[in-house]
Amino acid sequence: MIAVDVGGTETKAALVTGTSSQVQAVKQQRCPTVRDADGVVGQVAGLVEELRAATEHPIDAVGLVVPGLVDEANGIGVYSANLGWKDYPFVAKTQAATNLRTAFGHDVRAGGLAEHRLGNARDLDNAVIMPIGTGIAAALLIDGRVRNLPGEIGHVEVGHGDPCGCGQTGCVEARASSAAIARRYTERTLRPVQGAAEVARLVRAGDVDAVTVWHEAVDALARGILLVAALLGPEAVVLGGGLALAGDLLTDPLRDRLDGLITFQRRPELRLAALGDEAGCLGAALLAIDMLEER
Ligand SMILES: [Zn+2]
Repeated sequence: MIAVDVGGTETKAALVTGTSSQVQAVKQQRCPTVRDADGVVGQVAGLVEELRAATEHPIDAVGLVVPGLVDEANGIGVYSANLGWKDYPFVAKTQAATNLRTAFGHDVRAGGLAEHRLGNARDLDNAVIMPIGTGIAAALLIDGRVRNLPGEIGHVEVGHGDPCGCGQTGCVEARASSAAIARRYTERTLRPVQGAAEVARLVRAGDVDAVTVWHEAVDALARGILLVAALLGPEAVVLGGGLALAGDLLTDPLRDRLDGLITFQRRPELRLAALGDEAGCLGAALLAIDMLEER
């Protein structure tokens, strides 16, 4: 298979072999994402050509995952504000451009599928798998299956009143995404930073402004998780994406804050994801494998 994960800024592709429970990336490729749907399909076709040249074996299928609103059953990218498409037939266009059967899905849900089959949610039947990067969304694992549900935990209202890019105020994402953490630190201090990772380093060094921004991010995340705990009662929340690289700097205060907020709700275990930023690409490969095994 050739798996492609179209991200907001970077597209990851891999030549992959494997089965529905074991996947191996033979060769990987990354490039900056181009800005419209026809451009993305052209880029996917180029990546497929490059990667198929790296093996003597025939390619069976393409697995493609994209962000935004996705109609998986009909192979359509319904909407992406960042990448600028609306009702675009990704499967038909990709199959035409590559002459390969194409499985199609949503990046976050595919990443959740990969964590469930291959990563740190393998032993779970009910979990929220939540990558935190430029934005925040969640894959909802319910009774052993990643469901085709929005999972937009980044845009639930948690009471802080700051505006969000989605048009609401008070969203989890407006304080707790990697982008928000970096932006809010710079707004307080007028010091530019290289993303949330640098803010995390400043937190460890005891920088007062960094500690405040981090604390407010943790509070927003905890309140978002509390809402999911009240609605779904997951066994665990599996934190992924760039922000999860902060490790216990994130999970320790988040656990404390959650303990402070929880009254009657089932308390989810907090875990770190295992697959890092390869989860989406591995998930795309799993979608392709599942498609091939169905028929
Ligand atoms: Zn929002």
